[in-house]
Amino acid sequence: MASDETTLPTTEDEWRVRLSPAEFRVLREAGTEPAFSGEYVDTKTPGMYQCRACGAELYPSDTKFESHCGWPSFDDAIPGAVTEIEDRSHGMVRTEIRCTRCGSHLGHVFRGEGFTPKNTRHCVNSLSIRLDPEQHDA
Ligand SMILES: [Zn+2]
Repeated sequence: MASDETTLPTTEDEWRVRLSPAEFRVLREAGTEPAFSGEYVDTKTPGMYQCRACGAELYPSDTKFESHCGWPSFDDAIPGAVTEIEDRSHGMVRTEIRCTRCGSHLGHVFRGEGFTPKNTRHCVNSLSIRLDPEQHDA
């Protein structure tokens, strides 16, 4: 039972040990990776995007779309998987999204841009997520 996915750190020091410095900066300090730097910006591989901190399933790959904004973008999350929080930092009012399970920062959600039929863009740091590629039986 003591696998990584069932035992969540309770302190930031524990998170710091588990995550790389770059991951910690984004996931636990709500940092933002530079545009077009992330490993999943152009990824089209089918699978499930999970929270990099706790492994919770967040975004099926078929919700990913090309926004050309420089970060992986999704039109919706698995219901309840992400929590929206009003973010008034940097002189703007934005909606931050966090992993519901572990509270780690994922990115921001934007609405009304017309990118998709759902008119929603979850702009997520590659460092916040990890793709679990779809398994194909041989
Ligand atoms: Zn998480």
